[in-house]
Amino acid sequence: MSDVVRIGILGGTLDPIHQGHIEAALAAREALALERVIIIPTHVPPHRSRPATSAYHRFAMASLAVNGVEGLCASDLELLSPGPSYTADTLLRVSDARGIGASQIFFITGADAFAEIETWSRYPEVLDLSNFIVVSRPGMSLSALRQRFPQLKARMRLPIGRATEAAAADETLIFLVEAPTPDISSTDIRRRLAEGQPVSGLVPLPVEDHIQQHALYTQQSPITSTANHLHGQN
Ligand code: ATP
Ligand code: MG
Repeated sequence: MSDVVRIGILGGTLDPIHQGHIEAALAAREALALERVIIIPTHVPPHRSRPATSAYHRFAMASLAVNGVEGLCASDLELLSPGPSYTADTLLRVSDARGIGASQIFFITGADAFAEIETWSRYPEVLDLSNFIVVSRPGMSLSALRQRFPQLKARMRLPIGRATEAAAADETLIFLVEAPTPDISSTDIRRRLAEGQPVSGLVPLPVEDHIQQHALYTQQSPITSTANHLHGQN
């Protein structure tokens, strides 16, 4: 195996981060022998309505979730720019900041997110800015993705023994990783919390504590509203 550094990035609204995100990041790290996976909450997601919590809360929860988990870390990179967070910009910034090329960066998405790739800013060029790792997600199979994007088939690979190839390849690749990630979504977690149901086991314990301590995702408490207002989000 090559000793070239390979860095993974898992981006998303992460509102809130949950065990599905953690499992997807760990499966991608393992499959492609990544040195680490950087979890980057988006500041202002371009493709969806405003998040329920501020970028600061989402970054805090990402940090709490990775604390003590080997190979994962959280970054506030997208919080530093005020506009919409485009993956293409993030990939260029990571490349610049770390002095590494596109072949050493692996952007991780679930199969549902990759299915929307044609709507992303600077598609298809964004696929040249890093390798992609597409992790299966309950309800969205990887074979469905192959059929949906025949034009990308030539770039799609199964990861076994291919990490070295990625670092050496002329063109960036799309790795398909079949992993048994749990059937969890942030939407479901937000709904549960709004209904007063428990979310134990769906999010890491320190994230659960943070949600409770700040009364996030409930009918807006005065404290939460003020915090979000101070953060300039809501
Ligand atoms: P929401 O319901 O608000 O859309 P989500 O659970 O889909 O939340 P996102 O923040 O939208 O979480 O996802 C960030 C990234 O993590 C996306 O690429 C998404 O596909 C991936 N992801 C989320 N949950 C899983 C999971 N259970 N398995 C694999 N990938 C996942
Ligand atoms: Mg989603």
